[in-house]
Amino acid sequence: MQGRPTHARIDLDALAHNLRETKRFVGDDVEYMAVVKADGYGHGAVECALRLQEEGVNWFGVAIPEEGCELREAGITRPILCLGSLFPGQEEIVVGHDLTPVIFDLDVAEALSTLLGDRRYHIHVKVDTGMGRLGFRWPDARDFARGLKRFPNLNVTGMMSHFASADDPGQDAFTTQQIERFEEAVGIFEDEGFTPKIVDIANSPGSIRRPDSRERMIRLGGALYGLIDDIVPREDAQPRLKPVLSLVSKVAFIKDVPAGAGLGYGQTFHTIRDSRVALVPIGYADGYPRGESNSQNAIINGCLVPVVGRVSMDWTILDITDCMANGVGAKKGDEVIFIGRDGEHEIRASALARQIGTIGYEITCGISPRVPRVFA
Ligand SMILES: *Cc1c(COP(=O)(O)O)cnc(C)c1O
Repeated sequence: MQGRPTHARIDLDALAHNLRETKRFVGDDVEYMAVVKADGYGHGAVECALRLQEEGVNWFGVAIPEEGCELREAGITRPILCLGSLFPGQEEIVVGHDLTPVIFDLDVAEALSTLLGDRRYHIHVKVDTGMGRLGFRWPDARDFARGLKRFPNLNVTGMMSHFASADDPGQDAFTTQQIERFEEAVGIFEDEGFTPKIVDIANSPGSIRRPDSRERMIRLGGALYGLIDDIVPREDAQPRLKPVLSLVSKVAFIKDVPAGAGLGYGQTFHTIRDSRVALVPIGYADGYPRGESNSQNAIINGCLVPVVGRVSMDWTILDITDCMANGVGAKKGDEVIFIGRDGEHEIRASALARQIGTIGYEITCGISPRVPRVFA
């Protein structure tokens, strides 16, 4: 690879494996939506979606219509659901690219209906069953259903809700309540004469932990990217998923520093011995969090090497003294793995996340656009 060596390697075979493995675990009697919002959780939405389309995914989910356009322009022909809301001016984008909007606000329904005129168009509706975020609240299902009848050109082909805590065994009773509220709301819509064919509430943890939530479609994000090792409790039965993304760079410079040398901004690290350090061109502007300073490892030639000093915007310093001492060595141009595996060592996005009090999703979503994605 020419130029700055920092890149994210995306293993599309691992992505396909995760879909197949989840299908083996869940079974074939539901439809599968691949959620590829936020550039596929940082993995590259277009390439991931093209592969998943080949692998037989039924639906795609995006957060905003513009993400749906990008998929259409790249050749995605399966239905695409815009999970977020519509803002004034986005109706044309939705209709122009045959995207399916999620509607839970009658003002939004009206704007869409007006734009459509006498053309009929497919929508999904969203009920808030306790998440407290998007959707009309479940006790308002009948009012909303009746309100929608003012817009006969809107064809309700699907109905959805979203879990708040499907990953948490301590909140399983609440998750059950969400399922019950959802099924009741679907019943009310049917009673009011609507016939939603696609009915879905389960995200990755719901799909895996709660077979009773799978309904007619499941919406998978994290599971496909192999990012649920810090979401689904270890003791629960689950598919065997592989991480899809590796974050790698190369050693750019090596230098020897004496004992007592301060390293990096704030001089937060002082060597306690004569040391050899490697400088690697990756920093928080690439999405490698500053919170990993002095508390994370990278892997060089199968050897764990500590991050020393502050991670800065564009550079990170690694202490390779032990790596040199054990005979493995590290030299300019050697590959450095920040997320990924080499031999017996593996660093997951979840390990970076734990260090800074978040989840692996935020780590991969945060890998910035200046880091090229390389697909294999
Ligand atoms: C992001 C999202 C999902 C996918 O959640 P995962 O935990 O990544 O599987 C499903 N449904 C909605 C509405 C979402 O916003």
